[in-house]
Amino acid sequence: MQTEFVKADSMNLPNIDSMMVAKFFACNPDFCSAEFRNVKTSLSTRESYGDDAIGYVQLQRTQNTCIIKCTICPEHKVRSKSYSVTLIVDEQEDDVLQVTCHDCPASSGGCKHAIAFLMWCHRRSEEPSCTSIQCYWKKSTLAKIGSSIKVITTKDMIKKKIKTDESKRIDTVTSVVNNFLTESKKRKITTCQYLKHQNVILFTKKLICSLYIT
Ligand SMILES: [Zn+2]
Repeated sequence: MQTEFVKADSMNLPNIDSMMVAKFFACNPDFCSAEFRNVKTSLSTRESYGDDAIGYVQLQRTQNTCIIKCTICPEHKVRSKSYSVTLIVDEQEDDVLQVTCHDCPASSGGCKHAIAFLMWCHRRSEEPSCTSIQCYWKKSTLAKIGSSIKVITTKDMIKKKIKTDESKRIDTVTSVVNNFLTESKKRKITTCQYLKHQNVILFTKKLICSLYIT
């Protein structure tokens, strides 16, 4: 931890509401450049990336300004060096003054790490207040892979990522398939492509089940 900085936690983190985020994007055209407007921005703002990749959050308060620093674990090379990002907030004016990534060649035009950290701070501000204090000075989940977390099962991955509305969507997909099967049976349809492969799918499912049982 840097001198004069303290460990960030759920009590001392500055509030970054949606208006501040919107204002920051509006005032910083770099972050809204063509490259970031679409895919990259939406990927880096997603909860699963930021929350798993961000660690060692520390902050320093001087008068109206709060400087927050973090490290972001690279998404695809978790053992590589982390990116360090600094965010500066004017707490008096409720203004995000600056978000800088120090290790990324693309940072001058606003990079995905800067956006991910801004959105991480915003999500923490939106979280309902909890009686227990959550410390953010810790290794990120992604950085733990290969060191303290040796392996992660697919079951654990799914447990974290799938949300209720998403599991509902899967149910809907299954029910659409089932409705289709019932309807095609009713109409005595036998030549459709899906039905041709349906037997293969059923066979594979049975095979997998039998492998688990034995
Ligand atoms: Zn970066």
